[in-house]
Amino acid sequence: MARPAARSGPGPAPDGGDQPDLPDLAADCAACVALCCIGLALDKGADFAIDKPAGTPCPNLSGHACRIHADLANRGFPGCARYDCEGAGQRSVALHGGASWRDDPDVLSPMLDTFSHLRRIHELLNLLLAAGRLPLEPDHEHERRLLVAALCPQEMTSGLAATLATGPIPGRARAFFRDLRRGMQPLRAATDRPTSSQGPTRRRAPCQSPQAKSRT
Ligand code: SF4
Repeated sequence: MARPAARSGPGPAPDGGDQPDLPDLAADCAACVALCCIGLALDKGADFAIDKPAGTPCPNLSGHACRIHADLANRGFPGCARYDCEGAGQRSVALHGGASWRDDPDVLSPMLDTFSHLRRIHELLNLLLAAGRLPLEPDHEHERRLLVAALCPQEMTSGLAATLATGPIPGRARAFFRDLRRGMQPLRAATDRPTSSQGPTRRRAPCQSPQAKSRT
C-alpha cells in the first residue's frame, strides 16, 4: 500500500549549506516486487502463522501480491500488516532497473542484498530525521547533519548502498544515538527499537505488506 513520501528536507546546515535530497522513506509497495515477502524470514508465532527462511517467496504470494492481504491479521500474519520497509523496497527495484524476479530469477539475489542494505540506511535516516525534531546542542546537530549527508550520496547505487550499510557510518550513528539518549529521554522511544543493522534479518515488525497490488 503506497503512502505519502517523506521528503521534507532538514533545512539549512549550521555552516549555511543545504542538506542533500532525501530519498523516499515511505514504502511504496506498488513500485516494489514484494521483496520483503521473499527476503525476510518469518518465525511461526503470534505474528506469523508459518516459518519461512529468508530468501524464499512466501507461499501466500501470487505474482507480486499477497493473496491474503485483505485478511492478514485473521489469517495469522499481523506482523506483515505492521511491517514497513521505509522505502527500501521500491528503491532496490529502481536501482536494479525495475526488474522483476519473476521474469529474471537471476536478479533476485542482488536485489535482496540491495534491499537489506537500503533497509539499514533508510532506518537510520528516519531515526536521524526524528532526532532533528529535538532541540539538539549545536555539536549534536552538526553530527546529525553529517550523518544524514553521508547516507544520502548524490547518486545511490547498489554498490554504494552496500558500502554505506556495512561501513563505519551505522556504528557512528549508533554512537550518536547513544550519546543523545544519555541526556534526552524523549528520544529513547524512537531509538530503542532494534534496527536491521543491529540484528539478524527477521521480519519482527511492521510491514505494510509487500503485496504490490498493481504488479500481479
Ligand atoms: S504479506 Fe507477504 S509475507 Fe505476509 S503473508 Fe502475505 S505474501 Fe506472505
